Amino acid sequence: MDAWKEQIKNSITTPEKAAQILGISCDEIKTVHNEFPLRITPYYMSLIKEKNDPIWKQCIPDSQELGGSGFNDPLHEEHDSPVQGITHRYPDRVLFYVSPFCAMYCRFCTRKRKVSNSESVKESDLLNGINYIKRHTEVRDVVVSGGDPFLLQDETIDFILGQLRTIPHLEIIRIGTRTPVTLPHRITESLCAILKKYHPLFINTHFNHPSEITQESTEACRMLADSGIPLGNQSVLLKGVNDTSEVMKNLLHKLLKIRVRPYYIYQADLVTGTEHFRTTVQTGLDIIKNLRGHTSGLAVPHYVIDAPKGGGKIALIPNPVVTENDEEIIIKNYENNIYSYPSPAGSAKLKCAAEQKCTAKAKCSAACT
Ligand SMILES: *Cc1c(COP(=O)(O)O)cnc(C)c1O
Ligand code: SF4
Repeated sequence: MDAWKEQIKNSITTPEKAAQILGISCDEIKTVHNEFPLRITPYYMSLIKEKNDPIWKQCIPDSQELGGSGFNDPLHEEHDSPVQGITHRYPDRVLFYVSPFCAMYCRFCTRKRKVSNSESVKESDLLNGINYIKRHTEVRDVVVSGGDPFLLQDETIDFILGQLRTIPHLEIIRIGTRTPVTLPHRITESLCAILKKYHPLFINTHFNHPSEITQESTEACRMLADSGIPLGNQSVLLKGVNDTSEVMKNLLHKLLKIRVRPYYIYQADLVTGTEHFRTTVQTGLDIIKNLRGHTSGLAVPHYVIDAPKGGGKIALIPNPVVTENDEEIIIKNYENNIYSYPSPAGSAKLKCAAEQKCTAKAKCSAACT
């Protein structure tokens, strides 16, 4: 049996088994497990070093999930769904749900309403989704998602990608998968051989913490990258997991070393049962402020809030503008030093002033020095 199938077969899915491995009582897990089930691969479980560490927090049910505010579908993904399995929010790209299952159920998951429910993706949805994209010639990019598409069998993945590739207006295919993090054994030679047939293909994965970068996940990313697939990463900003500049910078640097380009950091969505994971937006802005300029631009992802009620992603940056008028914009750099950049009108004035041997040089902040 393939190592990944073995991992799935031996996954921890009952409160009793999890409690036994962790050496805790199973009562707490039991009450939460009814709301959103437990599923952890033996591999991911083995990354836990101590109680409540960042790995534990992501996968072990916690009674805080039963309280707090939130919504089942905070991003109104169902509202923007023209056919079951497709969310079409942006002009030129769609989300396509192909699998209800994941190797590990993240306690903070935005799609708890669907994920783990085998009814949430039917075979007919796959065909309807493919047909929808066929009919909509404006769609040039599809994000194949779930759940996790790599929980499907190789043949099904081959079928879906093959069908999508017959669509002439579909320029690129993207896959979102957390398996390089939670089930790296899933990235096999035979899967890579299938993926290679469907370029241009991009994969975004989902590392949240530096201790998820292991020999196994490094190898999984190497195989994908060697198959010619550009790899990106989408992290969720999570309290107690990765909400400090030190942890985040360490994660982003480690990702580049395994050939994964940081793409997004998401502000945590307003999902029911995840309030204990939410940080302030200022926390995210401070993290970006401590990255930009301080490290390679390659290591700096976009920090985005997926706007509640389906507004789509909104990128936030720490505001570098001090003032702005018709003649110039005053901006500060990563060390808070102040610079002026003149507008075309401002440049004309500066030039004129210089030619006339302006006596007001001291007042000019820009090119007139
Ligand atoms: C995130 C998302 C996409 C892809 O957005 P990009 O910014 O292009 O990565 C597409 N559709 C929906 C509904 C999304 O939430
Ligand atoms: S891998 Fe993604 S879809 Fe699956 S449980 Fe985690 S966050 Fe949700």
